Amino acid sequence: MSTAIVWFRRDLRLTDNPALASAVREHDRVVPLYIHAPHEESPWSPGAASRWWLHQSLASLQERIRALGSRLILRTGNSYDVLQLMINETDADAVYWNRLYEPAAILRDSDIKRRLRAAGVTACSANAALLFEPWTVATRSGDPYRVFTPFWKGCRARLETPEVFEAPNRLPEFRGGIEGGNLAELDLLPVRPWSEGLASAWQPGEPGALDQVDVFMQEALDRYPSGRDFPDRQYTSRLSPHLHFGEVGPRQLMVAITAEMASGPAQEQAGEKFLRQVGWREFAHHILYHYPKTPEEPLDARFAKFPWRGDWQQLYGRWCRGTTGIPLVDAGLRELWSTGWMHNRVRMVVGSFLTKNLRVPWQQGARWFWDTLVDADLANNTLGWQWISGCGPDAAPYFRVFNPVKQAEKYDPDRKYIRRWVPELASLSDQHIASPWNAPAPVMKAAGVRLGETYPLPMVDLKESRQQALDAYQAIKAGDRT
Ligand code: FAD
Repeated sequence: MSTAIVWFRRDLRLTDNPALASAVREHDRVVPLYIHAPHEESPWSPGAASRWWLHQSLASLQERIRALGSRLILRTGNSYDVLQLMINETDADAVYWNRLYEPAAILRDSDIKRRLRAAGVTACSANAALLFEPWTVATRSGDPYRVFTPFWKGCRARLETPEVFEAPNRLPEFRGGIEGGNLAELDLLPVRPWSEGLASAWQPGEPGALDQVDVFMQEALDRYPSGRDFPDRQYTSRLSPHLHFGEVGPRQLMVAITAEMASGPAQEQAGEKFLRQVGWREFAHHILYHYPKTPEEPLDARFAKFPWRGDWQQLYGRWCRGTTGIPLVDAGLRELWSTGWMHNRVRMVVGSFLTKNLRVPWQQGARWFWDTLVDADLANNTLGWQWISGCGPDAAPYFRVFNPVKQAEKYDPDRKYIRRWVPELASLSDQHIASPWNAPAPVMKAAGVRLGETYPLPMVDLKESRQQALDAYQAIKAGDRT
């Protein structure tokens, strides 16, 4: 009788889970285990919104595993110590897991693999999270890519429709009186008032993820190319938290999208566009793997000396609360607070506003997103913030400062998004709602808006603060030449 432990981490699914599939294939008994060890991910332990999601996702996985005839064992502590204890308690001779790519996880997992093997235990890891392992993609000279387009071109040429592992149809209960553990004791649920908003916006867990894939393929994919930039329309997949927690994997997406793409040229074009975004996720993991300091340090070293504003704390507080007085920025930050998610276009607008108009260090924005996004992901978040602040790989040029008023005119044409999240301005016309400070007094009066009372005055003048950002950029560029 051989026994294997399957150590679940951010692969909270039964389908296309290579660690689980191998354990089931090669062993008589399988012990599903989740270890709560947030300290091991420090300084990037999961934020509040991620912990809320994790709680729901583990509850869902518990239920799925119970339906297969087994139990998910929950434990808290140092991963190695818990694994050791479980090996002793269950007489396991093997441990299986799927790989993570964050620097702290890589260090921990390599150490655990070495120690288990030294103790005579089989330790096997597999790829469940990416289409391409970061070390398998390189430029012609063998270096990591730093520019997305050639990276994706190289990947796309190698991309084939993958095989996915079916979910097991049974997991026999292991013997022994092992305590299952209590999900509530992991203390993941926040005391924050917003968890109700999260619950009404999302269905965490594998069934929710698979439903979302179906909904996207059936209802939104064909409008993805033309509609994905409009925050008031649901034409993006909203799969990011499901992908982050591994409730669905990119190989499954690839299979679903390939099937859709076969149905006509429009679907083919839409599928390609969508895959390209999944490619950005691959690129983000590639960058984090090869440049593990990027969550804290800019990839473009010139930005280490960028003259960020010294007194940014108060401005940052207003930005976080969505009370900047710039309607599109406030709409995005309120959407984030309320639902744990923000549309990609608006992430770029609020990021540009924070790092350029306010000159608050990008790391502060990344921290706020880390705590409040349900899809907070070290690779994607780091890339997003470095990109928008102009200091990362393949970054938006620093001098490209998003104008939130023009962005609203272009991407929120009916201003529905602003009206939804900034209801105190809802009575203003389309012409004035994105820049109420320009509206004539009678218009403001008729709409019942008093700047500084019912809605904040803008924190900064957009034109002036843009110029200050450009001057600061010139200063580091000049410093570079000396
Ligand atoms: P879709 O458009 O449907 O895309 C499908 C999938 O592709 C996404 O679920 C995501 O996994 C991936 N993807 C799409 N765009 C990107 C991108 N630009 N970079 C990396 N992967 C991408 N994404 C996160 O998952 N977690 C984060 O913490 C995160 N932080 C960000 C911070 C900033 C400042 C910016 C500008 C972007 C950030 N993104 C992050 C990327 C992007 O905004 C989200 O992935 C996207 O909005 C998720 O919505 P969706 O699932 O509907 O995307």
